[in-house]
Amino acid sequence: MPTYIVLLGPPGVGKGTQARILAEKTGLKHVSSGDLFRENLKNQTELGQLAKSYMDKGELVPDDVTINMIKARISQPDCEAGAILDGFPRTPAQADALEVMLKDFNGAVNTVPFITAAEEILVERAGGRWTCRAQGHIYHEKFNPPKQVGVCDIDGSEVYQRDDDKVEMVAKRIRVYIEQTMPLVEYYRGAGVLAEIDGAQAVDNVTQSLLSALDKSSKAK
Ligand code: ADP
Ligand code: ADP
Repeated sequence: MPTYIVLLGPPGVGKGTQARILAEKTGLKHVSSGDLFRENLKNQTELGQLAKSYMDKGELVPDDVTINMIKARISQPDCEAGAILDGFPRTPAQADALEVMLKDFNGAVNTVPFITAAEEILVERAGGRWTCRAQGHIYHEKFNPPKQVGVCDIDGSEVYQRDDDKVEMVAKRIRVYIEQTMPLVEYYRGAGVLAEIDGAQAVDNVTQSLLSALDKSSKAK
């Protein structure tokens, strides 16, 4: 049976950073809805244009568009063993749709690490985030700067600040998260798959907490 991990948590808490590390350690594919939208935007697709109009305002892209994009991505052969979902689902309708699509793949959401940190930490992290243009590698101006300013260590592409990482936008995105995504915490807690993780720790310690939560949930089965 495939394994699906859903990383839940507010903007800036460290989901993308951890998803990349977990993907390497587990061999599961990292699927980030935000990265997929940004890739579409870079390639100037219709979906990218549509997503931009919402992302620029710090609002969520409509459920049907988002659900179809994720379904197409996790249906690819490289997700046969499962995936680490980062940034999806973000609404109850997306969570319901995910449940239905995973049944088609003979799977289910196995573990939902819920990563949290105080709002000041989120604003500081997202506000100082730098993102690589080519592949979305993640840096921070203070906590994890690239060796050469503005250049990705891994692929040499430009490293830039996302428009929606400007401080006013981060605050708006946190509000949207509280209103639209927080209800998923209770949804997954009720399903017995939630694992609370302290995201205020250093990157390595968060990874250790995540690995031990994944280990526990695989033993519980
Ligand atoms: P999310 O995907 O949840 O929005 P990211 O993984 O992109 O979050 O991280 C947001 C910012 O915080 C990035 O600049 C990243 O380098 C930095 N960051 C992530 N985890 C930590 C951590 N544990 N300690 C300090 N900075 C972190
Ligand atoms: P962060 O992890 O910092 O919140 P993301 O890269 O996940 O940032 O998301 C950036 C933007 O992309 C969101 O503000 C939203 O407009 C859009 N987006 C990403 N994932 C979803 C989703 N599951 N549903 C709707 N919109 C989404």
